[in-house]
Amino acid sequence: MTPRHEGHPNLTVVDHPLVRHKVSLLRDVSTSKKLFKELVDEIGMLMAYEVTADLPTRRTEVRTPLERTTGEEVDGDRLVLVPILRAGLGMVEGITRIVPTARVGHIGLQREHDTLEPVDYYFKIPPDPEDRRFVVVDPMLATGGSAAAAIGFLKGSGARSVRFACIVAAPEGVRRLEEEHPDVPVYAAVLDRELDANGYILPGLGDAGDRLFGTE
Ligand code: URA
Repeated sequence: MTPRHEGHPNLTVVDHPLVRHKVSLLRDVSTSKKLFKELVDEIGMLMAYEVTADLPTRRTEVRTPLERTTGEEVDGDRLVLVPILRAGLGMVEGITRIVPTARVGHIGLQREHDTLEPVDYYFKIPPDPEDRRFVVVDPMLATGGSAAAAIGFLKGSGARSVRFACIVAAPEGVRRLEEEHPDVPVYAAVLDRELDANGYILPGLGDAGDRLFGTE
């Protein structure tokens, strides 16, 4: 169900019939803004199952109507979703529906005018980053520039456990993350073919932010 990809040891593709079905609808140029948003939300929810598969649990005591037994409890509070503004916001709701106690940080990036280096114009995460598990989310992993920078800023603030989740990944972006952040597992719903000259993923789905927010 979740093959690791040959040549991309850091990548897990969440390969499931429902995910493949929803990604195909997402690609379709005639899909409405409303449906696009719902699909991003649903794919985020389905991917959350895989992205959180190794979350630690602690034992609890449960009283059923018949007797006492042991149960398990996820420490969801330790999980922090970090959407990269703005398209990343689209993936938050679906994942927090599965882990309602997860916290949400935010990273906004822009390129500095002269150096073209990414700078964070907004950065807000919960306290004690060294004790938390971060999942950076952005529907599209294209060149990997924003993802690598966001992960770098998180690590710079003390985060030790970081993973990255996207819907569509380009091989170029997966490779860049592997080179710059080999400790960061990457999860995608699909691995696409390549980037075009403008940095769009092919076949892709266009500009995810524009399609989510109706700004195209
Ligand atoms: N960002 C997008 O929204 N789409 C792409 O194809 C590449 C980057």
